[in-house]
Amino acid sequence: MMRAAVASFEFEGNSLSLRVTRRADFERSGIFESAALLEAAAGKDLALTGGIDTLRAAGMELVPVFAAKGGAGGHIEDSFFAEARSRIVEGIAAALPLQGVYIAMHGAMICAEEKDPEGAILAALRARIGPGIPIAVSLDLHAHVTHRMAAAADIIVGYETYPHVDAYRTGACAAGLLVRTMQGAIRPLTRIRKYNAIVPVLGGATLGDAPMAQVAAEARALEAAGRALSVSYFPVQPWLDMADVGITGVAVTDADAPAADAAAQAILDAMWTRRRDFELPALIPAEAVQEALRREGRTLLIDAPDSIGAGASGDAPALLAALLAHAPEVESALCIVDPGAAAKAGELGEGAEAIFEIGAWQDRRWFKPVPVTARVERLCDGLFTYRGGPVGGATGRLGPSAVLRAGGLRILVTTHAVYEHMDEHYAACGIDIGGCRLVSFKNLMNYQKLLGPGVGFIALHGPGGAPLRLQDVAWEKRQRPFWPAEDMPQPVTITRDT
Ligand SMILES: [Zn+2]
Repeated sequence: MMRAAVASFEFEGNSLSLRVTRRADFERSGIFESAALLEAAAGKDLALTGGIDTLRAAGMELVPVFAAKGGAGGHIEDSFFAEARSRIVEGIAAALPLQGVYIAMHGAMICAEEKDPEGAILAALRARIGPGIPIAVSLDLHAHVTHRMAAAADIIVGYETYPHVDAYRTGACAAGLLVRTMQGAIRPLTRIRKYNAIVPVLGGATLGDAPMAQVAAEARALEAAGRALSVSYFPVQPWLDMADVGITGVAVTDADAPAADAAAQAILDAMWTRRRDFELPALIPAEAVQEALRREGRTLLIDAPDSIGAGASGDAPALLAALLAHAPEVESALCIVDPGAAAKAGELGEGAEAIFEIGAWQDRRWFKPVPVTARVERLCDGLFTYRGGPVGGATGRLGPSAVLRAGGLRILVTTHAVYEHMDEHYAACGIDIGGCRLVSFKNLMNYQKLLGPGVGFIALHGPGGAPLRLQDVAWEKRQRPFWPAEDMPQPVTITRDT
């Protein structure tokens, strides 16, 4: 029986965010090894689950090594990264002999020191286990793929969809290619191509005929034409201040380097030619609220610059201030991270009224806390279950939370910044957004799942950890010229890691 090791280590970094993700933050979602890893992954929508199920269905003996998931934030503390790297590399080495390795990663992790953590892990693993054992990796669509990663891994496959609904399928695809490799049917190699260009995440949906949907269709056409075993497009997590971050094409072929180079180049050019199409209109908060009030039905107000899933702190009160100023009696809901306000509400108890200083508890570069006179409507433990998406079935943990009522506005103050999917976090704390005219979200894409007849959205722009206007960011490391700061008729290729 052939043996395959499985592991996952997922986190999305953001150079502009002040959030530091520590071991305790990973522990909230769980850090798993051995049989507990298989138990934790079973029945989920995770890439790891897709990989495990595929390897198991092919009759492989599984060696579960390590799994940890940290969501998004600024960077990971170096000590936990070192621990995770060691547990993955040494855990896999201790399991030898093996015929294959599958690892689920996000691909845009950063640490205080190490700026290419996935590359560091894969290179260390390759050095430790030698050249003969195939390594397959699945990545998020927003991964920052490096040449070091592509050199160390035999197979790299990215999510196809945004909103991300295919994590499981991506894990299954990477593991499926690994199975064929282990059985001797293919000898895969992975090539990457990259331009010095970044594009807004907000306009990167793969829904309908959106520009990224067209890119996705081109990737599938390349595969269908036999040009590659797998073609992936990475519009990249753009808020990474590094010289080697840019839109990237990746292709896996059966021992055909020129074909892999050509397919990676083709899909990269498919993104580049559409670079102007990823911009979406956005308003500042006050204008957004006023525009929403002119519309019929429910409007979702998308606080893009403070998007938690993009790594921002989730504590920006700009929209809160705009709602209090322009729609104080309108039935509305807003969620904001503020552990101090949540704790104060907990101490006061349900029914109490007080002045709360809300928001900007962590990040005061752009905003100050907003004073709000409010009644503690409800206290909650902040636990909810994701109804889908890349962590479907997993438990979300907002920590001790409270619903504060100020006029028509209900403010959900939470202890932790937690990845938003749909309205699970509101529902868990007793807020039915069906009764709200205005509802705020701090995510860049999942809100799309809530749109429909009578439900529209307005995106906000302004300062924050995930600003829409990438050309306005005071980048320190990014090399000029880059798109969109310069209107470049010809793209600049990034040929090496920094
Ligand atoms: Zn993503």
